[in-house]
Amino acid sequence: MAIAGYMDTRLLIDGVWCDAKFGETINVVNPATGDVIGTVAKAGTDDLERAVAASRRGFAEWRRITALERAATMRKAAALIRERADSIARLLTQEQGKPFAEARIEVNSAADIIEWFADEGRRVYGRIVPPRNINAQQTVVKEPVGPVAAFTPWNFPVNQVVRKLCAALTTGCSFIVKAPEETPASPAELLRAFADEGVPKGVVQLVFGDPAQISQFLIAHPDIRKVTFTGSTAVGKQLAALAGQHMKRATMELGGHAPVIVAEDADVELAVKAAGAAKFRNAGQVCISPTRFLVHNSVKQDFIAALVRHAEALRVGDGLAEGTQLGPLANSRRLTAMSKVIEDARKTGATIATGGERIGHTGNFFAPTVITDVSLEADVFNSEPFGPVAAVRGFDSLENAIAEANRLPYGLAGYAFTRSFKNVHLLTHQLEVGMLWINQPATPWPEMPFGGVKDSGYGSEGGPEALEPYLVTKSVTVMAV
Ligand code: NAD
Repeated sequence: MAIAGYMDTRLLIDGVWCDAKFGETINVVNPATGDVIGTVAKAGTDDLERAVAASRRGFAEWRRITALERAATMRKAAALIRERADSIARLLTQEQGKPFAEARIEVNSAADIIEWFADEGRRVYGRIVPPRNINAQQTVVKEPVGPVAAFTPWNFPVNQVVRKLCAALTTGCSFIVKAPEETPASPAELLRAFADEGVPKGVVQLVFGDPAQISQFLIAHPDIRKVTFTGSTAVGKQLAALAGQHMKRATMELGGHAPVIVAEDADVELAVKAAGAAKFRNAGQVCISPTRFLVHNSVKQDFIAALVRHAEALRVGDGLAEGTQLGPLANSRRLTAMSKVIEDARKTGATIATGGERIGHTGNFFAPTVITDVSLEADVFNSEPFGPVAAVRGFDSLENAIAEANRLPYGLAGYAFTRSFKNVHLLTHQLEVGMLWINQPATPWPEMPFGGVKDSGYGSEGGPEALEPYLVTKSVTVMAV
């Protein structure tokens, strides 16, 4: 079944790459061609039970290894990933569609993330608290929470796994990930690097299958102590409820609908360059993608003209073809979603300044699109488009733009362009977002917190804050006798 250059993906349980017990598989499709390029093993309950049992044993072993040694293993895995970056990126592009150059950045940045987390685990400190009795010693100890269950989506098949994996490993937890069935081979290569560099068996497990069945099983399982999910707000709310029912800690990295505020005094050229590039990266299938462009009326026409030029200059094609800047959408659901978004925008009075339709009949290609005169009632200004669509509206005062930015229940990323400190101050304190980038594109470096507020979820996947949810706190008081 597999074509040259792509491979079938198996489960990783207890240090062994294996088929599902009943041999079931799911097809993997290349979104640029529509061809089936391989398969992924589909785990059943028996496979999941084995994975949990292995994680329990893996946890017992890994937590007893020093932070220094854990960091050394993680660094070796990072080096191996850098060495294998091109081949992993080729798999990623074939199964997900993004241009090869973007896939390579994703893989290399995974190595960067691993290195940062490896070191941060060496700084998990407890504390000594001054006692009320001079003969007592009061200490606060941080311990790994236990086996972690992670659920990750298809838009960044490697990077959505790596932050969760690293937070778990560096704190001494074991890890089971249900990675995306549509893009399984590249996350498998991420875990392979850890297995190849000697992470003890049972520390990392990789499963695929029916997402709802697997999450129900793992979240409810008494041996799983922490849940972490990236995906849509709708699914995140279901999983958060399930985690609550079973008193499991949860981190939820959910959808966004990022406002981009271009103020009257903005450098418009910079705004188009930075936000335009961010908009069409990974064909807009990015949780922090700029989506609602709010542009001061005095610069709106210039901004729209430049954004349209930017969109029309993009080279759309197979991600493996030389020079491609925009690949296909990752699955046919996104094509349907884009068509609906455009139809609704037209109905509600918007103008399609460029794009707005599928390209060709093979593969999931959709033209980079700019929509103007968008009504506040239009779908595109209310639900996350998750595609290569930029929707633009004008504004007269920054206060109104901020009110519009905060109108939706989402609160993940926000962007702004302005030269004034007063505006920066206002934006910093009033925008309801978890991440704000001003006068620049997104730079989600591992040392900075990464996460949302409101319906975009809770918990952070970057910075020292990312380790805390994987640790439990024990208060120990000892009396000298
Ligand atoms: P979806 O909502 O069904 O799935 C989103 C992700 O959640 C997928 O990876 C899926 O496998 C997983 N999932 C779904 N149900 C699950 C369950 N019960 N238990 C565990 N995992 C489950 O839809 P989709 O068509 O795959 O994606 C569409 C929407 O998802 C997008 O519009 C976007 O809003 C959101 N999304 C967000 C991100 C992100 O980075 N935050 C990534 C991918 C998709």
